[in-house]
Amino acid sequence: MIFDTDLKGTRARLAELLDEAEFAVAFTGAGISTECGIPDFRSPGGLWTKNQPISFDVFCAHKEARNEAWRRKFNMEEAFANARPGRGHKALANLLTRGRLKGVITQNIDGLHQASGVADEALVELHGNGTYATCLECGTRYELDWVRERFEASGGIAPDCPRCGGPIKAATISFGQSMPEREMMRADRFTKESDLFIVIGSSLVVFPAAGFPLQAKTLGAKLVILNREPTEFDSMADLVCHAEIGDVLAPFATDA
Ligand code: NAD
Repeated sequence: MIFDTDLKGTRARLAELLDEAEFAVAFTGAGISTECGIPDFRSPGGLWTKNQPISFDVFCAHKEARNEAWRRKFNMEEAFANARPGRGHKALANLLTRGRLKGVITQNIDGLHQASGVADEALVELHGNGTYATCLECGTRYELDWVRERFEASGGIAPDCPRCGGPIKAATISFGQSMPEREMMRADRFTKESDLFIVIGSSLVVFPAAGFPLQAKTLGAKLVILNREPTEFDSMADLVCHAEIGDVLAPFATDA
């Protein structure tokens, strides 16, 4: 394992690993989006220092939990709506365009990989997407503006589905909610095919998502971890760098 805090050394080794790889895959977490103004969960000042998450069961069982979930969502909406892709997103989009990266598996729900130009076929969103909502009963899609209008007009009551009366939830995966089957299968395929697996900005404590880097390494891929704090998986990685993601990846946004 090479442990590096030197940006130049990390970039050079990462470039070598990318050159050697036939099927490189990136796995991103909330840390790639913090420089875009979206807080992560576990850093100081992160979302968890403010609110404990509302689990899926609680969301489904209690109207007040749904009201609270939408209150939080709309409080955060400005940060999400104003966010633009950061240096990490741009680097991955460039590597995909040049064929040096084959896919991105993300835990993020902010839509910033798509905004940086990553095509749907190359992207797996493991935890869904927070830019729209769906009815949990009949699956009808609702735009956030539609939900917000009704939420505000009623003084903070979460609207139910006009078609079937079911609860409407942001199209993200909450704790306790089943993982999306198709996206899990696509992530599994990317992971099995990968010979280089690059983890970027994840604390690697949320399972089953964190199982993918573990699986990639076990099946023989080289593992890279870019995160400003140590993770439980550092000791099994081939390259680890504890630094700002944007600083490490910025040159990859333009390099051939
Ligand atoms: P996490 O908050 O558990 O971990 C983020 C990691 O990134 C931390 O270890 C932190 O030290 C590191 N980090 C933060 N900013 C960094 C930077 N600029 N440079 C280098 N490292 C940085 O996030 P997770 O592992 O993705 O898991 C949390 C869950 O929360 C995921 O399911 C994710 O979907 C969700 N989430 C998503 C967003 C988003 O979509 N942007 C934001 C918050 C939480």
